Amino acid sequence: MSAELACIERRCRARFPITEVLYNCPKCGGLLEAVYGKPAQSAPELKKLWRERRTSNAALDQSGVWRFREFIPFLDDYAHAVTLREGCTPLLDAPQAARYGGLDRVTFKHQGFNPTGSFKDNGMTCGAAQARRLGMRRVACVSTGNTSASMAAYASAGGLDPIIFIPHGNIAFGKLAQALEYGARTIQVEANFDQILALVRGLADRLGIYLLNSINPFRIEGQKTIMAEMLDQRDWRVPDWVVLPGGNLGNTSAFGKGLRELKEMGLIDRLPRLAVIQAEGAAPFHDLWRAKDRSHLNAVEDPHTLATAIKIGDPVSWPKALFEVAESGGTVEKVSEQEIADAKAVIGRCGIGCEPASAATLAGIRKLTAAGAIRADSDVVAVLTGNVLKDPNYIHEYHLGVLKAPGDVAVMPNFGNPPVVVPNDADRIADLLSS
Ligand SMILES: *Cc1c(COP(=O)(O)O)cnc(C)c1O
Ligand SMILES: [Zn+2]
Repeated sequence: MSAELACIERRCRARFPITEVLYNCPKCGGLLEAVYGKPAQSAPELKKLWRERRTSNAALDQSGVWRFREFIPFLDDYAHAVTLREGCTPLLDAPQAARYGGLDRVTFKHQGFNPTGSFKDNGMTCGAAQARRLGMRRVACVSTGNTSASMAAYASAGGLDPIIFIPHGNIAFGKLAQALEYGARTIQVEANFDQILALVRGLADRLGIYLLNSINPFRIEGQKTIMAEMLDQRDWRVPDWVVLPGGNLGNTSAFGKGLRELKEMGLIDRLPRLAVIQAEGAAPFHDLWRAKDRSHLNAVEDPHTLATAIKIGDPVSWPKALFEVAESGGTVEKVSEQEIADAKAVIGRCGIGCEPASAATLAGIRKLTAAGAIRADSDVVAVLTGNVLKDPNYIHEYHLGVLKAPGDVAVMPNFGNPPVVVPNDADRIADLLSS
């Protein structure tokens, strides 16, 4: 099977060997993507093969990413793959959430069930594999979020040295804690995100470091399998809509590419529409989508939202994401901090739970059904991107009614469930529980 890297810019489309260490097109600076020749198997053969692997005890078959390896055939030797049994995440029905979102039915594809608690694992298993196949010993990213937690885990599991660069005085402790535990060397630099990125790019060549930032095309390949797994779980019934949060827009790019490829391969006969939801304080892609001129994204200087996983002002993958949303006949919406917080609590009440960025999906669905953009009887899959335990402070503050959005704006605990303090008195407790 032939595999190459290709520049996505239509006027360039330059191709490069899959084994070259590249992050952008050397000719025009455009984003790169992996491209492949036709698979050897037919669509029915692939469906059968991927389903049968669910009963296998082989490590790669137990991975919800490598189970679909014919769909991401960039490796020539699977000894390079690193798996923590990522993917294999459930599709969950949630009637209360459906009602709240104005739908007859909604299904959550919960990527928070991954080994480090977010969909970043679907991509990182591939990024780490590519680093090993390239013979790199060290990998790095600039992140304090789920990317660093995931990279640390996969690098350490694969015998690589993980290095995390973080901006000075800008630490999200919950996720950073995972990175420390998984053995990442963590370097705090007295500079902002963009300055550090430039610095690390320069150091990468000099020190033999492979970068696993958001534009890494192999991470995108891994994240494609979220759509393949979702469709396999639905016996290849295509939903009307796939709803997901948008930050750097890697996931939007991955879902769009994956779905188009599945259609080209004959596994599905139509595309679901992609609905990307952003937070109001970090919505440059939403603004681009609504703009007359879509040739240029205006970065948000000082993005703000409590949903830190989508607090991105200058999303690197926007050209890919814009193409994919348009190609799918999709849309982009934005939601407030209050809407995210309430939707999150509703998802919690379903016994499911997720991190704030993930809840933007249900908040967006509620807005899109109210506007008539999504019909109540639509078949909707919403992707919950991260685990409920990623951000416990947010939850505690919401339920106690003390959560503050940026700008010191109070978030109302509309679905608050605060703990009750009682004296050591059986009768008082009995009264309380029967009221
Ligand atoms: C990374 C992340 C996002 C944003 O995904 P992009 O690919 O950057 O758009 C959303 N939710 C969670 C939990 C994440 O970790
Ligand atoms: Zn190019």
